[in-house]
Amino acid sequence: MPSESGRPAASSFITAEYIEQFRRAAHQAVDWTAEYLRDPRKYPVVSQIKPGELIDALPASAPERGESYEAILQDFEKLIIPAVTHWNHPDFFAFFAISSSAPAIIGELLTAALNTNGLHWKTSPALAELEQVSLSWLRQWMGLPGDFFGIIYDTASVGSLHAIAAAREFVDPTAHARGSLGNLVLYTSDQAHSSVEKGAIALGIGQDNVRKIASDAEFRMRPEELASAIEQDIGAGRKPFCVVATIGTTSSTSVDPVPAIADICERHRLWLHADAAYAGIAAIVPERQHILKGCERAHSFLVNPMKWMFVPVDLNAFYTRYPDILRRTFSLTPEYLRTAGAEREINLMDYAIPLGRRFRALKLWMTMRYFGREGIVRILRAHMEWAQRLAGLVDAEPQFERVAPAPFSVVCFRYQGSDEENRAIAERVNESGKAYISPTVLNGRVTLRIAIGNLGTTWEDVERCWELVRATAAALSG
Ligand SMILES: *Cc1c(COP(=O)(O)O)cnc(C)c1O
Repeated sequence: MPSESGRPAASSFITAEYIEQFRRAAHQAVDWTAEYLRDPRKYPVVSQIKPGELIDALPASAPERGESYEAILQDFEKLIIPAVTHWNHPDFFAFFAISSSAPAIIGELLTAALNTNGLHWKTSPALAELEQVSLSWLRQWMGLPGDFFGIIYDTASVGSLHAIAAAREFVDPTAHARGSLGNLVLYTSDQAHSSVEKGAIALGIGQDNVRKIASDAEFRMRPEELASAIEQDIGAGRKPFCVVATIGTTSSTSVDPVPAIADICERHRLWLHADAAYAGIAAIVPERQHILKGCERAHSFLVNPMKWMFVPVDLNAFYTRYPDILRRTFSLTPEYLRTAGAEREINLMDYAIPLGRRFRALKLWMTMRYFGREGIVRILRAHMEWAQRLAGLVDAEPQFERVAPAPFSVVCFRYQGSDEENRAIAERVNESGKAYISPTVLNGRVTLRIAIGNLGTTWEDVERCWELVRATAAALSG
């Protein structure tokens, strides 16, 4: 708070008092964070507030005079925290369970402190080069070959948008100038993430030109259906240009048969984009590296370290074997402005829609160094082992049936009752504040899902969540 005595020094608004206040408040915030990371179990997983409650509790206008850190942090605890749904909670089993980790939190702090903005190399050599290094490290961990160029985007949705734009450029080198050819068709499975369709909408491809190829009994894209859809479109005078395969679908974590899909793409010269936002991280575990089989043939590939590698939101790692096409799509820097002899000078703005770029690589680099490959592998193995154990418990329960294989850390099952009953189970579990699960729909039926992935989760948490689901189902039917 710029108090009476805290008037700016002669030439700067950064006074000695401003610095001392920061030091004290930041220490307090770190102490709060350490306690929070130690055990967030004292909070309900799902916020219990009603819509609009936080808005009503806060002043309608910002303060005229500056306030103290004490007042601000007090309101953080009293007003903001009750409105938080705790993704860092060990009993969070919804969507994909994620968590921030201590080294990454330090990385975020330092990123904000530096506030370096990576437009081109010169504006932040550290950002441009650490992004290349940390993405190369991650690529090696996943066993992908060295011809993949890496860049960080905020989210997988934005990563896929860039992939689809590059795909269009791949089939038509003038697309960046003339816009869409029209008649372009994109293929993905009926289990693909909605971001694929959104990317097609944003790029003017249009929803009607997205073919959702049927999946098999285990929710994997059927390559023969893909091949015949492509041939049918070609026969009708349309122009197939891109296939998006998924490694770890959002509902059931199924894996599309990428080698067979790559064959089809190569035959027709289509861009193959592999969306491994969640499950790609599992390839860091040596005995699971095979899940990325065929991805070395993809034109682009993405994974979210913010999903299952303990890096906080947001961070998407995007790779392409055709960086020149990606750059041609988005670079507005004329060739004559390129400096001679500086081929190691990477200007990331040429490969992305946003000009500004956060120093996200710092938190990724710190997380990878702190845990090491061995540390990450140990956690992922535990999560996958617990998923197997949970699947066993579900299979042993006659009132429940499993709906999909559980190749990673997500188990899909349903109570043998109506869709309404299954939805009611999830709602009651979530209202209890003791766990958070999110239902999905598989084979047209409401399906319950327990997703393991939080750093603080133990097997006992998983078991307790399952017991809660069972007890809730029993109470509902009795
Ligand atoms: C989570 C997920 C996405 C979307 O991720 P964002 O980073 O939130 O955009 C896309 N694809 C798959 C397979 C996902 O699991």
